[in-house]
Amino acid sequence: MKTIFSIKNLILWCCLCCTISVSAQGSKHVILISIDGFRPDFYLDKSWPAPNLQSLMKEGSYAKGVRCIFPSVTYPSHTTLITGAFPARHGITYNTMPNAQHVYEWTTDSKKIKSQTLWQAVRKAGLKSASISWPISVGAEIDYNLPEIWSSTNMSDRKSAISEFATPRGLFEEMEEYAIGKAEINDLNLEYLTMDENNSRMAAYLIRKYKPSFLSIHIVGVDGAEHKEGRSGEGVRKAVASADHAVSNILDAVIKANLKDSTTIIVTGDHGFVDIERVLAPNIWLKEIGIDSKVGTQEPVAKFQAAGGAAFFHLKDLKDLNTLEKVRKKMDALPEEYKKLFRIVERDELDKIGADPHASFALAPVKGIYIQDANTGALLAPKTGGAHGYFPDIPEIQTGFIISGAGINKGVVLNSIGLEDIAPTAAKILGIEFKAPDGKPVLEFIKSN
Ligand SMILES: [Zn+2]
Repeated sequence: MKTIFSIKNLILWCCLCCTISVSAQGSKHVILISIDGFRPDFYLDKSWPAPNLQSLMKEGSYAKGVRCIFPSVTYPSHTTLITGAFPARHGITYNTMPNAQHVYEWTTDSKKIKSQTLWQAVRKAGLKSASISWPISVGAEIDYNLPEIWSSTNMSDRKSAISEFATPRGLFEEMEEYAIGKAEINDLNLEYLTMDENNSRMAAYLIRKYKPSFLSIHIVGVDGAEHKEGRSGEGVRKAVASADHAVSNILDAVIKANLKDSTTIIVTGDHGFVDIERVLAPNIWLKEIGIDSKVGTQEPVAKFQAAGGAAFFHLKDLKDLNTLEKVRKKMDALPEEYKKLFRIVERDELDKIGADPHASFALAPVKGIYIQDANTGALLAPKTGGAHGYFPDIPEIQTGFIISGAGINKGVVLNSIGLEDIAPTAAKILGIEFKAPDGKPVLEFIKSN
């Protein structure tokens, strides 16, 4: 009898050991920094003004590239970063979605995310989280949250909306008092790099004051500069320097809070950038065969939904195979000068990469071609600057990944990881239970206990 009891105890003990997750050696805090439009060359090529990123890379480990999702645009990508799920599963398939009146709106409410977020997993584990300017984080289960949001009447005014949707209430005013000073609208305006400085100061304050186990922050200035100037403009250099300085503010705060030995830093992004030369409007082809993609407040019979370097074909009624056939015929009959500008991504390929399950097919343009929604004007016109949205097989669209600090191996260099692997990697480091539906932790980076 005694022996049986002991064996039972032993089995119980073994089961307990197997289910308790353990954090990576010494790591108690993970800081996830997403630099919008972050490219691997910013740290691999020393001519970019990014000394903090380059030394983080030297002290820790990195990937030469991160394979993105499709479309490689900001909101679906940030949702993959925080869930480890592809868009088909997390439900955020585009930056903007049509509302009941068929007006496209940015998604901001975290309830729209259909898979578990890292923030939820952190809370479930009884730990505290904080977040600054993260897309689709309004109402999220975050202890100290200053979400990415702007006034519905003035997109430049983030200040009043952040104040309104901050949790706990009064957190933004606390920031004004202790982190950034009394703010004007333009102190948190995408048009100015001041926004990166202020967001990083808020992160620094939250780290010093509340010492969250997990903090996510979205640094935005680089993206705007790359849209305007393409991959290598002077404004991009300035924005990269600004993002690098924002990272330095966060690293300083970790030291000031006496958390350096217990903190892991991840710097990554949502997508890279491609220089553009021309803009294509495929909805004009639909108009040529009698399908109007812009019909006021009604849902059109069919349309191409543009997503920068991509477009997704949608039928109002998925069973409307006549319309689909008509459109496919039109596409097949296009002159070679247009056909060579893109390839058609079929449904099975969209399924493989977890893209929008409702699209019949997608257009993946070649480098240099940007796609817009318009169904009037020029079919193809010159355009300068940069864009993203492209299919992940274009090398320039890869984002970057650096990991450094507590619990992290030094000097591991991987050629490529997936965007969906980043959330489970962060969860593994924290030692919390988290089921990323599409990603897995990159164990090469993590010290084994
Ligand atoms: Zn972005």
